[in-house]
Amino acid sequence: MTELSSFFSVLGVVFVIIIVILGILLLMATILIYSIVKKKKIIFPRTTLFLLDTLYYPLKRLVVSINLDESVVDRIEIDIRNKILRNEYFSSKIKDRVVVFPYCSRSMECKAQVSPEVGVKCIKCGKCKIGKFKEICDSNSIKIFIAPGGSFVKRVLKRHPNSSVLLVACHVELNEMMRILSTKRIPEYGILIEKTGCIETDVDMELVKEILFEAY
Ligand code: SF4
Repeated sequence: MTELSSFFSVLGVVFVIIIVILGILLLMATILIYSIVKKKKIIFPRTTLFLLDTLYYPLKRLVVSINLDESVVDRIEIDIRNKILRNEYFSSKIKDRVVVFPYCSRSMECKAQVSPEVGVKCIKCGKCKIGKFKEICDSNSIKIFIAPGGSFVKRVLKRHPNSSVLLVACHVELNEMMRILSTKRIPEYGILIEKTGCIETDVDMELVKEILFEAY
C-alpha cells in the first residue's frame, strides 16, 4: 500500500513537471509568434519551427486569445520552410519540378475527369487559370497536377521520386504537405492561395510562374 502511494506521488510529480515544461514551451512559442508578427522578421527559425510543429494545435487556440488569426501559425511555418529549403528547391533542374494546385482552384464548371493516379485531367477548357498555365508547363515538359486531396502529393512523388515540388494551397493544407515533404527531404516551395473559401480559389499565377522558372 505504501509502495503504491509512493508510486502515485512520483507519477503526480512527473505529471506536474510535464505540465510546467509544456506551459513554458507554449509561452516561448507564443512570444516568438508575437514578435515575428510585430517585427515581420523570423528569429531563431529552426527553434520556432520545432516549437510550432510540436505545439501546433494548442498554439492555434492560444494565438486567437491574443487577437491573432489562427492562420498565423501555418503562415510562419510555411515561411520558415520556404527560407530553409529554398536553396534545394531553386538549385533543382526546372524540368525535374512538378507543380501541384489544389482541387478548389478549378472552375465550378470544370468538366475534367479525376483519377486517383493523376488527379484532375485538365482539358485546358479555359474556364479557370490552370488551363493556360498547363499550356506553359506542357511546352516546358513540366508536370502539373491538380490534387483531389491532401495525400495526393505523396502518390505523385511515388511515381516521380526525384522531383522537387512547387505546392499551391491554403494555409492548413500547404503547411501539412510541406511538413510531410520536409521529413522526406524533398526539395519544395510553397505558395499560399490568395482567395480562400474552398470554391474557385485564386492564386497569383505570375508568382507561381516566377517561382517555377527561377533557378540558381
Ligand atoms: S482549365 Fe482545366 S482545371 Fe480549369 S476548369 Fe478547365 S478543365 Fe478544369
